[in-house]
Amino acid sequence: MADIIKLLPDAVANQIAAGEVVQRPASAVKELLENAIDAGATSISLSIKDAGKTLIQVIDNGQGMSETDARLSFERHATSKIKTADDLFNLHTKGFRGEALASIAAIAHVELKTKKENADLGSKIIIEGSEIKEQEACSCAKGTTFSIKNLFYNVPARRNFLKSNSVESKHIIDEFLRVALIHHDIAFSMYNDGNEVFNLNSGSFRQRIVAIFGDKYNTKLVPVTEQTDIVTIEGFVTKPEFAKKTRGEQYFFVNNRFIKNAYLNHAVQNAFDQLLNKEQFPSYFLNLTVDPSKIDINIHPTKTEIKFEDERSIYAIIRTAVKQALGKFNISPTLDFEQEKSFDIPLSKYKEEVKIPTIRVNPNFNPFEKEKQTFSPSQKTINKNATNWENLYDNFEENTTAIIDAQLNTTENEHTEKTEQLFAANWDDETEVKTKTVIQIHQKFILTQLNNNHLFIDQQRAHERILFEKFLTHLENGNGHSQQLLFPETIELSNSDAELIREIEPDIKKLGFNFNAIGRTAFIINGVPVELSNQPIQHSFENLLEQFKHHQSELKLAQKERIALAMAKSAGIKSGQMLTQEEMLHLVEQLFACQMPYSLPNGKPTIISLDIENLNQQFNY
Ligand code: ADP
Ligand code: MG
Repeated sequence: MADIIKLLPDAVANQIAAGEVVQRPASAVKELLENAIDAGATSISLSIKDAGKTLIQVIDNGQGMSETDARLSFERHATSKIKTADDLFNLHTKGFRGEALASIAAIAHVELKTKKENADLGSKIIIEGSEIKEQEACSCAKGTTFSIKNLFYNVPARRNFLKSNSVESKHIIDEFLRVALIHHDIAFSMYNDGNEVFNLNSGSFRQRIVAIFGDKYNTKLVPVTEQTDIVTIEGFVTKPEFAKKTRGEQYFFVNNRFIKNAYLNHAVQNAFDQLLNKEQFPSYFLNLTVDPSKIDINIHPTKTEIKFEDERSIYAIIRTAVKQALGKFNISPTLDFEQEKSFDIPLSKYKEEVKIPTIRVNPNFNPFEKEKQTFSPSQKTINKNATNWENLYDNFEENTTAIIDAQLNTTENEHTEKTEQLFAANWDDETEVKTKTVIQIHQKFILTQLNNNHLFIDQQRAHERILFEKFLTHLENGNGHSQQLLFPETIELSNSDAELIREIEPDIKKLGFNFNAIGRTAFIINGVPVELSNQPIQHSFENLLEQFKHHQSELKLAQKERIALAMAKSAGIKSGQMLTQEEMLHLVEQLFACQMPYSLPNGKPTIISLDIENLNQQFNY
């Protein structure tokens, strides 16, 4: 019997490959934009006609190609980006497979014009269905222009399955934005059927986000920065109050490449935990920089999923970084004000001198340990941190200054001067918290000074935050302290309240409640959590239930969190209560030992800071 296996002709092989690489016009757009970036372009323009079905044109001012390279670029597995298998583990380019142009040329009419900087003439190639139709010298500007006409002209099945122009254009705009957002140092423009859709100057990441999504974004963004051995994170999340009902702008980039990752998305969502309810989604724009050898590159070119070697650590680091960022935002409205000002800085200056501030990282950082702590802040951690609350605040303070400095472009000297000033007003050598000054205002706020900052702490909210974290720990560890009653007390509840008590019975017993039901609505109470021991029993039960029901409807918290919050609300000190110096200091200590000192679970601030510059401003200095 005759042999029947044959090698496919290149044109057919390319067409098959094209089926994977180019699913729709937007895929071709992505490949061309990425090639332009890899070619070092500083300005890239995209034009589409008929949602890319008739024309996709990308013009770049990158390095261009020689005559031979221009011809070779359409060959399959022809790439200038890797040479050996080892290079696969040190990728710094978007492409490396050498498949895209071969695939596109197999299923479209392609015209390429390209010229290298010092060449007198450039090259022009016309290729249709993998067949070179024309190749000649041409005079053109430095850089490369690809024009892709009549995509899928020879694959009618594909062409017929394309969606409406509005759907296909939307896909193209999505791809365009994914690339343009993170490459903010490159100028981009986009035209749809001759109309300008975007015209983006090069600038900072913040400027690019604002240029794309609108001026309002400038006030919505909270910077997130973190640097660890595993990953560097730079970017922004939107403030909780701007969260959307639908998944809004959620962008993760890894080494400047857009990716989708449900797990890491969860890390961000989780960092917002009690600040948002379950139907709200934060927007975010986060770029993760990781060692290319630590990610799996052996992934399909068109896929946006990516595998990390150390995904769990990255999860923990992202969550912590976003939490910290949100915490800082809550404490410092002035910081926010400065950021807006930074927007006026001339572009060139901004670009030159801006240094991304980094958060000081504990060299013994172990993300898993941190993970544990965040989920269940143990009493031990709190006590350990409690005596160092000014240090905790200091870290915040330094970072804040660093950010402001970076954005206002203060010079090295100015920076040092500022830092010195900061420490001059410090508590000198006093490290004992006991010696700090705290003042109670209106029996409601505690005023204290730290460095150049004046902190106004809401006593009721502060205590609620402290107790919330404490009760949550007790709930998780089942180690609440019970105060046994000398004379057990019987209480009578309404039918529905009695039901509710049964429902949360296992949890509240972990907090220190000790009771037995007698009949349907009566309970005999033998013990209560020590934190409630000075309240009338019936009252504390009813109060707890009332708070629990209130938060059931107000926030979509987990049951344990609702119970912890209800307990915190009923056991906490209230506004209007006189506090001694010692009580206030203790409160401040404990607050700064919290995982999230700056706000309540519903996002309301616990601390407001007013810095000296702000005061000077108020006095018109
Ligand atoms: P890959 O990007 O994976 O290398 P492509 O098929 O996309 O493969 O491109 C093949 C080669 O053509 C690239 O490696 C590059 O050398 C060259 N090339 C493609 N587009 C451009 C461009 N816009 N400017 C300069 N060179 C380009
Ligand atoms: Mg490519």
